[in-house]
Amino acid sequence: MDIRLDNQVAIVTGGSRGIGAATVKLFAECGSNVVFAYRSNAAAAEAVVRSCPGGNERVIAVRADVAKMRDARKLIETAVTRFSRIDALVANAGIWPADPLPIERMTEREWDEMIAINLKGVFTVINQAVPHMIERKGGRIIVVSSTAGQRGESFHTHYGASKGGVISFVKGLSTELAPHHILVNCVAPGWVDTDMCVPVLTQPREARRINSGIPLGRVARPEEVAMPILFLASEMASYITGEILNVNGGNVLCG
Ligand code: NAP
Repeated sequence: MDIRLDNQVAIVTGGSRGIGAATVKLFAECGSNVVFAYRSNAAAAEAVVRSCPGGNERVIAVRADVAKMRDARKLIETAVTRFSRIDALVANAGIWPADPLPIERMTEREWDEMIAINLKGVFTVINQAVPHMIERKGGRIIVVSSTAGQRGESFHTHYGASKGGVISFVKGLSTELAPHHILVNCVAPGWVDTDMCVPVLTQPREARRINSGIPLGRVARPEEVAMPILFLASEMASYITGEILNVNGGNVLCG
């Protein structure tokens, strides 16, 4: 059975680059209409729209900061106004500052920004999308967490805390929304070759250290995270909710 999402409507946050961009393209290739959010990189967002089948007939980019409730509202309203429904929400937007940050040097501003985007930014879009899903008596929510949400991440402890918070949020929502036939799951990637990791993966010694710590011996391509996200949005995952799908080459058990 092929995965098809013909005439469905998906919302993806952080769709202009990396995992989000791969997800937008894959969903569009499977027949879905897609409305995606980006924060500031309009050129990257436009390139993603152009690369999708159907172009701007079926794929819409919205400049929206997920940390702001009014922007989340604009994103969801755009989807409902244009396509009249929401079948899937992929809460993917996130930040990970590459420089190691010891806790005693972490500022209140750095902590607040991390939590505002990675944790509150998941709440805002879910908060705005769920009433539409309840009305239609169903939907899929897929949140992108991280290995760091399960084992923590030293020198990036605010990131680990935000991603762990997301997992707990998903677990609670999955049972709360199950009576409405809304399935809520996480995908938790390990290292993925995106702009986020460029500062680390372009250092040969660091790249060797990271690759040798992954049982499959390499970092993931963004498409390799987009495919499990698609699976969770598809009919193939109709009895899965409250789960954390690890996509990490075996890495979560190591290091
Ligand atoms: P990326 O390549 O840096 O892309 C980030 C995307 O999020 C961009 O589209 C960016 O928009 C958008 N974004 C950032 N802040 C936003 C905000 N406040 N509002 C709306 N959009 C915002 O990142 P990625 O590697 O694909 O990561 C995607 C998700 O996977 C994140 O949640 C990340 O934590 C998680 N993850 C990544 C890895 C990894 O190794 N890469 C591992 C585990 C988990 P602009 O283009 O406009 O900046």
